[in-house]
Amino acid sequence: MAGSGKAHLRDTDDVLLRVEDIVVEYETEAGTVYAVSNVSLDVRRGETLGIVGESGCGKSTLGRAMTMLDPPTSGTIDFAGHGVTTLSASKRRQLRPKLQVIFQDPISALNPRRTVRKIIGEGPEIWGRKVSDEQINELIAAVGLDPQAVGDRRPGEMSGGQCQRVAIARALMLEPDVILCDEPVSSLDVSVQAQVLNLLERLREERELTLVFIAHDLGVVKNISDRTAVMYLGKLCEVVPSGDLHRFPSHPYTRALLEAIPVPDPEVEILPMEIAGDLPSPLAPPSGCRFRTRCVMATNRCAAEEPQMREVRPGHFAACHYSEDLLARAEAEQASGQEPAPVA
Ligand code: ADP
Ligand code: MG
Repeated sequence: MAGSGKAHLRDTDDVLLRVEDIVVEYETEAGTVYAVSNVSLDVRRGETLGIVGESGCGKSTLGRAMTMLDPPTSGTIDFAGHGVTTLSASKRRQLRPKLQVIFQDPISALNPRRTVRKIIGEGPEIWGRKVSDEQINELIAAVGLDPQAVGDRRPGEMSGGQCQRVAIARALMLEPDVILCDEPVSSLDVSVQAQVLNLLERLREERELTLVFIAHDLGVVKNISDRTAVMYLGKLCEVVPSGDLHRFPSHPYTRALLEAIPVPDPEVEILPMEIAGDLPSPLAPPSGCRFRTRCVMATNRCAAEEPQMREVRPGHFAACHYSEDLLARAEAEQASGQEPAPVA
């Protein structure tokens, strides 16, 4: 697969979800929005794959395509051995419950007029299956809520964190294989974010779930994910085991994101390096490497030639013409015990 830009796809049996060359374009009055351009990813059964990138880079669009919420403009989706893009509508409908989604704003994702019990039971209802009160109570308890206390409440009578737990219970009711979590804690108070993340982590283990975890916050993603995929303006920059992300960033955009994570120690006064300039318009993405207009390392080559994804360390893939240089620098820093320095 060398040179195809898909070197990071794994050729193993335990890949549960694989998307290849996903393109999503929106036709608008202003022109074509190139939201996702030739993205390929695979998710192994039981793993958590994180997708990170700043707002507007196409994470939700990619997630919606991966989970069959919206069909892509082109590209293929393979789920549990089924070529989803070529399945009949009714076959695809049968697979849908196996791919569940949890959204950023839990309160508006839940029907305000229904009680928690009704909300959690509505999924199977749509599929013509009755569920017992015991099953619903069990799930309410499994997401850390008290069935007696919240069962008859409506979304407006609960906190954001409680609503997100209800949304998780509703997803679990359908016994999914994959849950796409699209910025599931971004709208929650910082104090409850960790609780909801811990809950997702625990449920994944207990129920052998596979998670695709989307966030704009690299700090959140790298802690919860086995592998992290870094996205910029509709394309992948880097796919890396999360444990290597901090030590061996091999794309200038990843490095810039890492430097933007606030330092938790108040004694240390480090101003995070902002990524210079605005995200270019997805109506007219830059030629060559899409990050080049904001990259401190960019050369003429970056405008002329699109960098291809390739393996720079075992299981670690990056798509910058200078990834090997960046990696060598990171390795030298590791060897000398330094923190990664700004790339400028
Ligand atoms: P993210 O989730 O990373 O913030 P999105 O996937 O929501 O990014 O959006 C990617 C790009 O596609 C953005 O420029 C956004 O404005 C655009 N976009 C998303 N949905 C639509 C739509 N339905 N019609 C037109 N443009 C859209
Ligand atoms: Mg989004």
